[in-house]
Amino acid sequence: MYRSSPLYGINFKGNVTLKTLRPEMLHAISVARAVFIANQAQLTVTDAWRNDPDSLHYYNLAIDLRAKNLNREQRNNILGSLQIGLGTDYQVILHGQGDSVHYHIEFDPLRVGTLYYKNDKRRMT
Ligand SMILES: [Zn+2]
Repeated sequence: MYRSSPLYGINFKGNVTLKTLRPEMLHAISVARAVFIANQAQLTVTDAWRNDPDSLHYYNLAIDLRAKNLNREQRNNILGSLQIGLGTDYQVILHGQGDSVHYHIEFDPLRVGTLYYKNDKRRMT
């Protein structure tokens, strides 16, 4: 189940919204859109903000993209193109099993995960 959006080439699962995402993730979606189109694949954002303070999803710095409908070649090509296209400030992994297999993309240039945000009191105000 997904819904199409006015943004050509980008679909969203259920209630997933871009509204709270930080600009770094909008850039990631833009890059992903081009990568998926180049691989004749449909881009669906399956998760964005999530109520889990241990995840960068909570800080609007992570998104998940559907991969279950991709064949093996598409999965590998898209993974490589996302990693190259987004550069080293982003981490891209392909994980999950069966219907839940997805790309997780997060913006974490310092490679500290949620540590920085949890300790940043300014962000909490
Ligand atoms: Zn994720």
